[in-house]
Formats: sequence, structure tokens, C-alpha cells
Amino acid sequence: MSFDAFVTGYSVAVSVAIFAALALLLYYLLFNKSLMARISAPAQQAQLTEFVILKCPQCGFEKKRQFELGDYVGKVDQERCPHDNSQLVVSSIAKETSSQ
Ligand SMILES: [Zn+2]
Repeated sequence: MSFDAFVTGYSVAVSVAIFAALALLLYYLLFNKSLMARISAPAQQAQLTEFVILKCPQCGFEKKRQFELGDYVGKVDQERCPHDNSQLVVSSIAKETSSQ
């Protein structure tokens, strides 16, 4: 085998290896994309709703309501506790998927 033949054979082998790697990468990306689409599709359909937990500082009564603009943890809400009539405080803000 001459040197030229060796170089030609080597570069062909390298080309094939690069092509194979690219094909593998492309296949991986496409597969990953469809996998991602499969995973994220149901999540996109379910709506994320933001809600807050109101807590009574006196007796610990808790109530959940829809998040409203300007709500923050520690905010004293307009709503009052049904037990002792003290104003409820926003104790936490969270998101959940609505079960509609
Ligand atoms: Zn209370």
C-alpha cells in the first residue's frame, strides 16, 4: 500500500466517521425534539393558575384564592377571618395546574 493510498483511505475513513457522528447527532436532536414535544404537549394544554394562601394571624385559619396583581407574601388582605374577624395575611404564593 502506497502512502497516497493510505492517506486517501484515512481521509475517507475520517469523512465517514464525521458523517456518522453528524447523522447520529441529527438523529439524537430529532429524537430529543419529539421526546420534548411529547413531554411538554400535555403541560401546555393544562393551564397554570397562580394562587395565594391567606392565613389568619390569630387562629391559623387558611384560605386559598386566585392570585391578584400586587399580592405579595406578608400582605394584609381585605378578606377577614370567619372565626375572629381579623384580617387575613398572604402566607404563600404558588402555581398549580388547573384541573379543568
Ligand atoms: Zn382567625
